[in-house]
Order: sequence, then C-alpha cells, then structure tokens
Amino acid sequence: MDCILCGKCMEVCPLLRATSREELSPRSKMLLGTMEGEDPARLASLCLGCGRCREKCPQGVDVPAEVARLRAEHPDFHAWLWKTWLTRARELWPSTGLVSKLIPSRFQPEKLGPMLKMLDDVRSGPGVAPFVTVTEFGDALRGEPVMLFAGCTASHARKRWLRVSKELLSGLGAVLLPSRFECCGGSLRLAGCPDDADRLCERNVNAWRDNGRPTIVTPCASCLHSLRAYPERMFEDELEAEQWAGSLLALSSALHDCRYELSDVRPVSIGYHKPCHVVGRDADAALVEAMLGREPDARTVTECCGFGGLMRLADPGPADQAGSECARALSEAELVLTGCSACAARLPSVLPEDTAAGHWLDVIGV
Ligand code: SF4
Ligand code: SF4
Repeated sequence: MDCILCGKCMEVCPLLRATSREELSPRSKMLLGTMEGEDPARLASLCLGCGRCREKCPQGVDVPAEVARLRAEHPDFHAWLWKTWLTRARELWPSTGLVSKLIPSRFQPEKLGPMLKMLDDVRSGPGVAPFVTVTEFGDALRGEPVMLFAGCTASHARKRWLRVSKELLSGLGAVLLPSRFECCGGSLRLAGCPDDADRLCERNVNAWRDNGRPTIVTPCASCLHSLRAYPERMFEDELEAEQWAGSLLALSSALHDCRYELSDVRPVSIGYHKPCHVVGRDADAALVEAMLGREPDARTVTECCGFGGLMRLADPGPADQAGSECARALSEAELVLTGCSACAARLPSVLPEDTAAGHWLDVIGV
C-alpha cells in the first residue's frame, strides 16, 4: 500500500509528540527517499519501533517495516552491536551483567552503558517483596500440553520470571513440554537484520512442530506480538500458519479466572504501564486489575517508555524524551507494573529513583 501523506499517523507517534521534530514523524520517514539533502540512514535509525503508526494508518502502511528495510540497506556499527547483543544473549548477558556491577558507570563503554544499566536493573528486580498469592487456580489450561516461550530476559537475565511462569503453569494444571525456543526475532527484524530474524523464527516454528504443535504460552507482551507477526513463508501452508496463530496465548489471559490475595506489605499506590505492542484487549492490564481487585492508581495509555531497541544506541536523546512523558503519566505510583520484558527493563531508567518497576511476575510469590 502507498502512503498518501494523510498524516493520521502523526497523532500517535511518541517520538513526534515528545520532541515536536517533524522529521522524526512516521510520515517523514515515508518521504525519506524523496527528501533532498537528508541522510536516509540517519533518519531511519530514529524510530522506536513501537508500531503505533501502523495501527493508525488507513492505508495499511507499515512504517517500522520500511524503517527496518532502510536499516538493512545501511548497516552500521550500532546494528552490528544490537545484533550481537541479541543473538549472543545466552553468553553475553550473564557476563556483562557482572561487568555492569563491577565497573562504575562512568568507565563503561559509551554505547554499552544504557544496555548494561537495563540488564543490571532487570537482574536486580524491582526491590519490592512479592505481595500477591494465588489462592485458587482456574481451569484455563488443565491437562493441556503447553510450551513456555519465556523470552530472552527471563531466560538469560531474570530467571525468577522463568521460575514463576513455570509454577503458574503447573498451578493451572498445564502439561509443560520441553521448550527449546530462541529469541522471538522481533527486535532483530526491526533493527534491519531480516536473515537473522528469519533464522530464529524457523527454529522456533520447528521446536513447536517437534512437540506436536501445542499451545505456546508467553509472559511477555512484546514476544507475543512478535510471534503473532511471523511471516507466512515460515509455515508449510495457510493451515499451519493459522494453527500457529491459534496456538499463541498470553500467560496473563490464562490467569484471569484465578483468585488472589494481597499481603499487607504491598505498596500503597500501584501503576500500570501499557506496552506499545499491545493491540486490542490488554490481557496484562486485566490481570493486574484482577490481582489488585481494583483499577491501578496511575496508568499509561499512549505513552511509550522509549525502550527503542536499536535507537537507544544510535540516538538515545529523543527516546529519553519519550520516556519522560511516560514517567509523568506514572508519577503518582510507588510501584509500576507491566507485561513486557523490554518495558520492565527500561522503566527503572525512566521513572524517579524512588519509584519501583517490574513485570507483574515480580510481585507474585510462589
Ligand atoms: S503512513 Fe499512513 S497514516 Fe501516515 S501519512 Fe502515510 S498513509 Fe497517512
Ligand atoms: S514506529 Fe513508533 S516511533 Fe516509529 S515512526 Fe511509528 S509511531 Fe513513531
């Protein structure tokens, strides 16, 4: 579909809203090829990949995919670093997490600093003792063979999420199958590394086939979004593609029917951050409400945390401006919960020091 320059996407772009720089808008990105004197590679790198413009576009234009295409045509050091960071997470994240603890931030390599900080934040957790107990499990997955798609953060940095996810699935009565999944590939695709992303998709689809195409449950909203967006060419035929789509489930959805009890040590005001990649019903928001027994005290609706993937390396300034808007919306909260691994890693850098942040898995005691 062609961009007709209608500008509808301008209403939702968090970069444009935070910076008022029109050259960062999705519409401008669609004009890149025709803008004289502009460096397409530089402008292409300035996108958070949030996908809000895609959802708003009446023409069905996929601006982040266009950005990814431009990034692939103009590979640079940042893309290489991001790709290495993600494709070698298993080896790099545990050791670099230690580096971030041992080396003072002012001596850390400039480009790695924000990534090391995020890793450190997510490894340490929100610093809030778990205060939610599941007192009664529902029957959403009873007796059902299930594969857990934990995501890179839970697998390599925040192992508690992995443990809690498994415990919750066991409580729900699911039959947990071995899950030899790799990274979902979403961030790599947005960063302009389509071949690497395809390779990961292929391995994940094969792991699912090898287990007889069961339900795949994930606690991460962005992984879920990425798994849902796997290209049709990854599948044998239309039927298998439909089967894949039908097999994907948010862990939060399976937990809506449970009963919860809160301990007295819970923070007084609790906020919820909605990840950009949630389209339609927000199962994580519904779960947080079910756990609290009420609405959160503060919440984001359109504000992006500014995680930004590759952009955090290429030009963190505008991403940080977007993050400040998110912090303002959540200023009433003592603790902010979310359902996305990347947002959970990013939020501690965005929020004031005395505001804790984490995935909702962090507050469930098992
Ligand atoms: S990308 Fe879509 S919404 Fe944005 S200007 Fe083009 S046609 Fe309009
Ligand atoms: S993906 Fe997000 S940050 Fe990038 S142009 Fe679209 S709305 Fe703006």
